[in-house]
Amino acid sequence: MKQEAFASYSVETTRREEVCGLLGVPYDPDHWNDWRWQMRHRLTRLEQFERLLDLTESERRGLLLASEKFSVAVTPEFAALIDPHDPGCPIRLQVVPTENELLVSPGDMTDPCGEDDSSVVEGLVHRYPDRVLFLVLDTCAAYCRYCTRSRLVSQGELEPLGRRIDAALAYLQQHTEVRDVLLSGGDPLLMSDHTLDQLLGRLRAIDHIEFLRIGTRIPGFLPQRITPELVRVLRKHRVWLSLHFCHVKELTPEVAEACDRLADGGIPLGCQTVLLKGVNDSVEALRDLFHGLLKLRVRPYYLYQADPVLGTGHLRTTVEKGLELMAQLRGHTTGYAVPTYVIDAPGGGGKVPVQQDTILGHEDGVWSLRNWQGRTYTYEDVER
Ligand code: SF4
Repeated sequence: MKQEAFASYSVETTRREEVCGLLGVPYDPDHWNDWRWQMRHRLTRLEQFERLLDLTESERRGLLLASEKFSVAVTPEFAALIDPHDPGCPIRLQVVPTENELLVSPGDMTDPCGEDDSSVVEGLVHRYPDRVLFLVLDTCAAYCRYCTRSRLVSQGELEPLGRRIDAALAYLQQHTEVRDVLLSGGDPLLMSDHTLDQLLGRLRAIDHIEFLRIGTRIPGFLPQRITPELVRVLRKHRVWLSLHFCHVKELTPEVAEACDRLADGGIPLGCQTVLLKGVNDSVEALRDLFHGLLKLRVRPYYLYQADPVLGTGHLRTTVEKGLELMAQLRGHTTGYAVPTYVIDAPGGGGKVPVQQDTILGHEDGVWSLRNWQGRTYTYEDVER
């Protein structure tokens, strides 16, 4: 069966031709399908967005001012998904800044997850005893306006990996308690196959490291990057991927093909979704996304309450809203389609799962439970 059957949304070739025309480059499918061409032709400047979209005054000011602290970039592939006439388009809200980014909301922080305080070597964050976060790059294919690491990515804040890799690997060699390394950034899949292969090989050579994961938004922003050669590198080093999708419109036939290639290559796929106001804060939007992901063999893993990053208050929902949405999902659909709703505790407390109370109480080994319909049931322990 063709990938279109499993995709949830598709873009007409005419829109791609239109995007190329507006960017002033001829449309050529071979170029379009080349990830390096996509990177070279990203939209980064106000005048490019002006040609592609009916910009609001707030977006115009956002593109002029907000990009000074956190760059703007969108691949032509992702830009073709944006509704040019609707400022509320869920794709547009994720990547086109508005002047709201200049506002400071209650609770806003520059480094909400306290990563800088747990940094042991530049780019290496050791917060949980057995796990580290390794920020390998500070660039992404496109920039999400709610990014937790906007303080680091896009502006060249990190030293190039080549200058700090020996110190990071020496730390990992010495710390035998570390069994799990998450490569993130920035997006690690922007490295060349050769560089990624070398890095993963050096990590795999450390005996006590059992589990390698990569956090990436590439399959959505740049599905062309998921080549058979890249899949071979990921497979060789037994890597798990944490993908990032926020709306069902992102699940195009090209994305379906990229996910198929990864799944067929034996790469386990999970998805991290950020709960965003106007993008996916309805039960329909979340359900469509999670069902669409399952069709692509991607397991919805975490739904994040948006981190209180400076200038992102306009994209955050309340926690109460998140709890309500989760209550409407749990039990009403396949368990695999329901991720864990978490808050990354501001200040470096780590991920805390949150859910409306399902345990009503317990006495003498009898547990009183509330199910998805709000009905009460009891479970008795075998030992009292
Ligand atoms: S892809 Fe990840 S690191 Fe890059 S801007 Fe988006 S959220 Fe931030």
